[in-house]
Amino acid sequence: MSFSSHFVKDKFAQYYQKYSSSIQPPASIENREFGFLLLKERIMLRHKGFRSVDDLRSSLKTIVPSDVYYSSAYYERPEEEMKGKGWLGADLIFDIDADHIPTPCGKVHDIWVCSNCGAVGRGESLKKCPTCGEQKFNEKTWPCEVCLESAKVEAIKLIDVLTKDFGFSSGELKVGFSGHRGYHVQVESEEVRELDSMSRKEIVDYVLGIGLEAEFHGLGGKRSRVLAGPDLNDLGWRGRIARGTYAFLLTASPEELEKIGLKKNVNTIIQHKKKLLESWKGKGKGPWGIIRDIGPESWRKIAQYGVGKQSVKIDTVVTTDIHRLIRLANTLHGKTGLKKMEVPITGIEDFDPLKSAVTFKEGTVTVLVSDAPQFRLGDETYGPYKEQEIKLPTAAALMLLCKGAAKVVE
Ligand SMILES: [Zn+2]
Ligand SMILES: [Zn+2]
Repeated sequence: MSFSSHFVKDKFAQYYQKYSSSIQPPASIENREFGFLLLKERIMLRHKGFRSVDDLRSSLKTIVPSDVYYSSAYYERPEEEMKGKGWLGADLIFDIDADHIPTPCGKVHDIWVCSNCGAVGRGESLKKCPTCGEQKFNEKTWPCEVCLESAKVEAIKLIDVLTKDFGFSSGELKVGFSGHRGYHVQVESEEVRELDSMSRKEIVDYVLGIGLEAEFHGLGGKRSRVLAGPDLNDLGWRGRIARGTYAFLLTASPEELEKIGLKKNVNTIIQHKKKLLESWKGKGKGPWGIIRDIGPESWRKIAQYGVGKQSVKIDTVVTTDIHRLIRLANTLHGKTGLKKMEVPITGIEDFDPLKSAVTFKEGTVTVLVSDAPQFRLGDETYGPYKEQEIKLPTAAALMLLCKGAAKVVE
């Protein structure tokens, strides 16, 4: 192991020595499979089982893994190979990752590295390396403030759907900051435990608003007269369509209206924007049909766009996978040195992951940074850095070391 890797391992070891008592066992720990990503070997140690949280805590102290996971599933025999485990059920889990949300800053802070020739570029990976034609890349993303904020907005939308539409109580939901670029939402309830993959796919489709046609809600369609479109206060997706439409009309520019396929109505909409928005203030009204020139088909297009705005950007694969491993709360994220932590549902709006999830608050380290965008931790902003030797607080240095963007100066 390099000097820098030793440094990271020492820090992670200190954390687990000091804070392992903060690690709480998942429900029915004896039925869960655990997995550890090893710091040095970079391999995943799977099919681990623990009878008690004390066993788990002392393993973390001796192994000092880079990342710690446990199964969303409950098994009769968690330590056996997949076939012999005896699946008993699984929590319902949702993963929201900034990687699935387009943000403008990705172009600034994300880097791809060609795995064949090492060519480097900014933004999303290309289909093919421009230098050698290789199609495999290593992507380096950042836990940036804008990206994290947009992930949080999605988490809040998801909590709304799960509590209001599905009727889960907030006590059945666990919301967590991942320690990197996202949030996890987990439903621990007898009612979801035995759902198979297909049933979970139905839930995914609902959350995404897939198959939701605005014309079934009184908008557009071949023979329709616009009469009763959804209202802002309607329950479920009807209200979401209305709120999505409202939000869109509130800020839509002529270009954006053209983008969704509107042509001659664009000017009419812009001209009557105020009237359209105010139409919602009366009871049970809304803008549908109040201006003759804006016909059903235009409203269908606008409302369909509203659906897209309200759909929650989850990683669909995670929810349907009934054997998924998820990160354990109060363990460290190997790509940042931040901890995964639970976030209280009330007050999530004010939760600041780049402050709350920082664990190493003492000391400084001198590092040689190869390339890093500007980032914030706590109240301090660091970088951008390029081939620069600099003395940094431990948490900031650790972030760069975990990202592979720096080396400790010996
Ligand atoms: Zn290449
Ligand atoms: Zn960003």
